[in-house]
Amino acid sequence: MFSKPKKINLRLLISLIILLAIFIGTSLILWESENKVSDNPIIVEAAKDLNSYEIYIDFDPDSKSLECRQRVEYKNRSKDDLESLYFHLYPNAFKYEDKPVFPAELMGRAYPAGNFTSAYLEIDNLKVNDDPGDYMILGFSEDLLMIDLDEILAPGDTAIVDMTYRVQLAECYGRFGYDDISYRLGNCYPIACVYGDSGWSLHRYYDIGDPFYSDMANYKVVVKAPKEYTIASTGDVVKRKKKGKQALTEIRAQAVRDFAWLASDSFKLSSKKLGDTTVNSYFYTGQGKEALDFAVAALKAYNDAFGQYPYNQLSVVQTNFFIGGMEYPNLVMIDCDMYSSSRLDSLEYIIAHELAHQWWYGLVGNDQVMEPWIDEGLTEYSTILYYGLVSTSYTEDQVIDMVQYNKYKAAQARSPYLYPEIDETIDRPVYEFEDWETYDLLVYGKAALMFHGIRETIGDDLFFDVLKEYYKEYRFLNVNKDDIVGVFNRVTGRDFGPYFDQWLYD
Ligand SMILES: [Zn+2]
Repeated sequence: MFSKPKKINLRLLISLIILLAIFIGTSLILWESENKVSDNPIIVEAAKDLNSYEIYIDFDPDSKSLECRQRVEYKNRSKDDLESLYFHLYPNAFKYEDKPVFPAELMGRAYPAGNFTSAYLEIDNLKVNDDPGDYMILGFSEDLLMIDLDEILAPGDTAIVDMTYRVQLAECYGRFGYDDISYRLGNCYPIACVYGDSGWSLHRYYDIGDPFYSDMANYKVVVKAPKEYTIASTGDVVKRKKKGKQALTEIRAQAVRDFAWLASDSFKLSSKKLGDTTVNSYFYTGQGKEALDFAVAALKAYNDAFGQYPYNQLSVVQTNFFIGGMEYPNLVMIDCDMYSSSRLDSLEYIIAHELAHQWWYGLVGNDQVMEPWIDEGLTEYSTILYYGLVSTSYTEDQVIDMVQYNKYKAAQARSPYLYPEIDETIDRPVYEFEDWETYDLLVYGKAALMFHGIRETIGDDLFFDVLKEYYKEYRFLNVNKDDIVGVFNRVTGRDFGPYFDQWLYD
């Protein structure tokens, strides 16, 4: 059978063509850039089976606040039935003046306006699997969210948590806060606490060290911000479009243990490609191009020494972070004061340090509250290694002498007078250190010398074999003391247990 074709409605056809043209045109105009999510097989494999976060953020620089909508798909990867879920609400650690995240002597520098201002996170609404959620805010400074589950979450099962919340920022030069130039959004969203062999890890935000501990997860984050703002972040920008005075930036990050971002309307960007990784230097004054060169040199050195950095991008961001530098996955914050031409040596040192954390913390994770020496000591020693791997202004021996050896030895020498009670135990939780100086001497200095002693005993070839094996075996996981000591023992065929114990506890 053959049916006569119907007469085409010309007017309808023209309308359709016009609509199609508008749609294509609009798409071309609005979508400024579109990049792919990482297809590196190592990342694709690591990203399977992880918790996922989808966060929509409306950033308002006028009110210094974020309105957020967040969905977490939380999978119970433990062997236990879970009756509740816990999340850190780190912004609330900045809520109360009498519970600060800075030691008393640093409060004046942390709050430059001269007085404390409160920052916090307020939850408006929370649902679990589409039903209203039963939750409580707990913790030292209301920095924990406990969700009571209606039904037990069995091993392998997933719960979907939807929440809306508002984050208020304060003028503060810490990891989380703003100043005239930039907004630092480190630890700014509810992140799932780690559930391990001894249950939930519910540490608060201590005023010493980097008191964080988290699991790998996948992220899709969309930030709506005034279009003149540049966003530097963990992960890859996959889309950016302008909408009136606003811009939407869609970011994807797979297999990362946290998500951090900064926003500024003053950032300049300088980038270089090293293999499959784009290295970005965001800066607004001073030696931003030199910062980029240091970062590229460090990335190349560590790729060769430890194993390949698997992500698409790595950003070094100049900002008003008065403590020096801070590591997050794919992103490090560097104190703007380091960017002057007279402080290039310090800038190089601090970039070399923070970039080593991409391996030791970012990829091989550990509980930074309970065993901070694992990532910090090895990172400090990796910084020393950098000077042997890259030809630059100082040799490795000079750096050992200048930075750690002298600092630690000097403290030891004067300890009978200034530190009569100094306890030289490296392996203790951050909250058991007397102050930042003792923490620095032991967790950075003495622990770095501990790794140096092993290298001097076994030689470079074997030492770097150990680091490569450690990275390959434990990347995307969390380790403890037994894991790191075990790798040294396995690869060298010796027993370094007593050696570690002597350094860690004597
Ligand atoms: Zn560090």
